[in-house]
Amino acid sequence: MHVAIDASRCQGHGRCFSIASALFESDELGNGVVIADGTVGPGQEHHAHMAVANCPEGAVSIEGA
Ligand code: SF4
Repeated sequence: MHVAIDASRCQGHGRCFSIASALFESDELGNGVVIADGTVGPGQEHHAHMAVANCPEGAVSIEGA
């Protein structure tokens, strides 16, 4: 399972890295970016789903669930 961000949709609200700081971080512009390759580690699945549900731009997705 991996998380991904569609950078063309991200408007930088920061909810993803506030909710799931192990999976996402802020770039220099305040936009969300995936940490490393976006692998969702053990115990992080809930945070990944919360990030998808709370991105107001629909930019966060889960792949290989
Ligand atoms: S929550 Fe969505 S819009 Fe906000 S920084 Fe994360 S990906 Fe971008």
